[in-house]
Amino acid sequence: MNPAATQEPHMTLEGGLPAVQQCLREVETHSGRPAGSVRLVAVTKGRSLEEIRERVLAYGHYPLAENRGQELRDKREAAQAQGGEDLEWHFIGPLQLNKIKYLRGVTLVHTLERLEQARELARLAESWGRAPELLIQVHNGEAQKHGVPEEGVAELRRQAEAMGLVIRGLMVMAPYGDLAEAARVFGRVAALGARLELPELSMGMSDDYVQAVQAGATMVRVGRALFE
Ligand SMILES: *Cc1c(COP(=O)(O)O)cnc(C)c1O
Repeated sequence: MNPAATQEPHMTLEGGLPAVQQCLREVETHSGRPAGSVRLVAVTKGRSLEEIRERVLAYGHYPLAENRGQELRDKREAAQAQGGEDLEWHFIGPLQLNKIKYLRGVTLVHTLERLEQARELARLAESWGRAPELLIQVHNGEAQKHGVPEEGVAELRRQAEAMGLVIRGLMVMAPYGDLAEAARVFGRVAALGARLELPELSMGMSDDYVQAVQAGATMVRVGRALFE
């Protein structure tokens, strides 16, 4: 038999978003969380609009997350030009001051780390007419570049709120390749979020979203597993 003959498009869609959603629902149930309480944020960096339609939007309305400002701006404008689609965009990449201007229309930024970034967002939001809501990215304890040390989070929040910005919660990226360590990092960030009474926790990617939901994530940022 010709193996290519079995490659019907719908067969290659096995897995992907429906499988991730099903897994999320199961972990919610096992963790005693209400069904549907964890939001799936679809990470679409490097994917074309066509792929995004086929692998994400075909299954419903999901926030789309990008990690580069220009790529986000280009896709957002292309989607609008093609059909006036009212998509929801999140930003999950490093916030470079000179590129924050591309984030017009974004509803949630997951990666606030510094006061100057908050200042630039507040400044641009005046001309945008609306500021994105924000999550503060927490340092994960490893030798990683990004994130605010736990003890600095409350102060950055206070300063951003003083500018009129809305801090909704915390975000963290776990160290790669060690799920037990990832679970510990998620647990620490969840405890910090509870202490600060911040409702949203953006934690977990394709390889570790199960651990993240078990620890209390309210949003998972999944890319690869939706497109494989
Ligand atoms: C790429 C990326 C993700 C998604 O990672 P996958 O392994 O593709 O699921 C999540 N969060 C951030 C910040 C990313 O850059």
